[in-house]
Amino acid sequence: MHERSFIKGLIEQVLEEQRIRGLGAIRSIQLQVGEFSGMEPRLIELAFAEMRPEYWQTEVAMVVETIPLTAICKTCQAEFGVLSFRFICPRCGERDVTVTGGEELQITSLTIESPQVDPQSATGRQDQVV
Ligand SMILES: [Zn+2]
Repeated sequence: MHERSFIKGLIEQVLEEQRIRGLGAIRSIQLQVGEFSGMEPRLIELAFAEMRPEYWQTEVAMVVETIPLTAICKTCQAEFGVLSFRFICPRCGERDVTVTGGEELQITSLTIESPQVDPQSATGRQDQVV
């Protein structure tokens, strides 16, 4: 199950980011997972739920956004959603297509608690998305 090693790397990346930027407590991690990324969103959530207590005593949520697999036809430029990994243009039947979405595997944002006031914003109380 490679989701576990992915989550380990991800958590370490978040902790490093937190340390470098002096962020407050992490409340949630938003993640984009493409259908074509090789990762299973359900397994990612499961792995995170299992491993989270090793790093944080407090609750940290993981919010996974699944990105559908899409492609564009090199011949007729039609953009389409790829179903069941059939890389065939529905308009002209060509197989020469470029994947345009669905390979994402990245943190899009972190929600952090911000007890210290950020000089840039006067609202130090609200959760802040970075
Ligand atoms: Zn086409």
